Amino acid sequence: MSTPVALAEGLRKGDRRALAQAITLAESALPEHQRDARELLSLLASNEPTSFRIGITGPPGAGKSTLIEALGSRITDQDHRLAVLTVDPSSLISGGSILGDKTRMPLLSANEKAFVRPSPSSGIEGGVARYTREAIALCEASGFDRVIVETVGVGQSELRVAEMTDIFVLMLVPAAGDELQGIKRGVMELADIILINKSDGDLKAQAQRSASECLAATGLMPSRTPGWTVPVLAISALDETGLDEVLGEIERFREYLLVQKLFGRRRKTQDLSALTDALREGLLDQLKADAELATQLDEMAQQAGAGRITPRIAADELLERFFRKTGGVE
Ligand code: GDP
Repeated sequence: MSTPVALAEGLRKGDRRALAQAITLAESALPEHQRDARELLSLLASNEPTSFRIGITGPPGAGKSTLIEALGSRITDQDHRLAVLTVDPSSLISGGSILGDKTRMPLLSANEKAFVRPSPSSGIEGGVARYTREAIALCEASGFDRVIVETVGVGQSELRVAEMTDIFVLMLVPAAGDELQGIKRGVMELADIILINKSDGDLKAQAQRSASECLAATGLMPSRTPGWTVPVLAISALDETGLDEVLGEIERFREYLLVQKLFGRRRKTQDLSALTDALREGLLDQLKADAELATQLDEMAQQAGAGRITPRIAADELLERFFRKTGGVE
């Protein structure tokens, strides 16, 4: 492994090998790799936002990779450099991945102005948010001004991704209105743009109907972005129909955020939540690093699980012991 200083230099020059290596450091659970990743990130820290971060989520098989592959070349044709990061929570639990590997986007992977990073398959359990934030920062430091974060819509990961991107695109497939593919209302409420994919062949009419139903449903929901009406587009990633509109809406949203002065505010809120996440994680790591406290944590967890103590009281007690031990409390 190169040193953080050498990696930082490589990244600034746009060296892909350095970027790949840096992301591997951020993925690693080894404490020395974590330390190096932190040092690298502090060497690269910049004040001004240099990119636009696009979150894309949807159920497996909705067509996310087909869409990103097709949008990707349009984005790089517009003279942007595009990084694509995939987050697949299933792979962290099973070691296997719903999303599969890099070959999902062969054209983009071979595109000189793009960088595709497949999902990490282990090592970052519980740290998806931290890993993703760091990987985004590393791509930006390497000169990528558009970053797509793709995630499978299974659980909490969408929320996390929505919390670290500037725009959140939800991709669905045609379905009966009352089901909306089991997508939870909460996820719909996060969306800035909704796409109904596979609007082609036999599915076209159904896709149009799903789009109208979706539009009606979102009309009743509060928009995450004040004053923004969530557009719902029926598209075909496979036939590449509606993709210019998708890019147009993404750009319109970017401008909206800038004009309404929401862009900086959103980033600031996200930075604050990154800070509190890091604080929480750091405290817990330190607590676990002490063998006695780690045992007490396990015991408390069991007691809380058995209903003998409330989690809140258990946490207060552990914190008190921790600070007493470390000298934080007289
Ligand atoms: P992902 O799991 O969301 O990334 O989905 P993929 O992009 O891998 O696509 C899953 C399957 O749906 C593949 O067989 C694609 O060829 C197909 N697919 C993707 N987009 C479309 C589309 O717009 N129309 C149709 N008919 N099939 C599509």
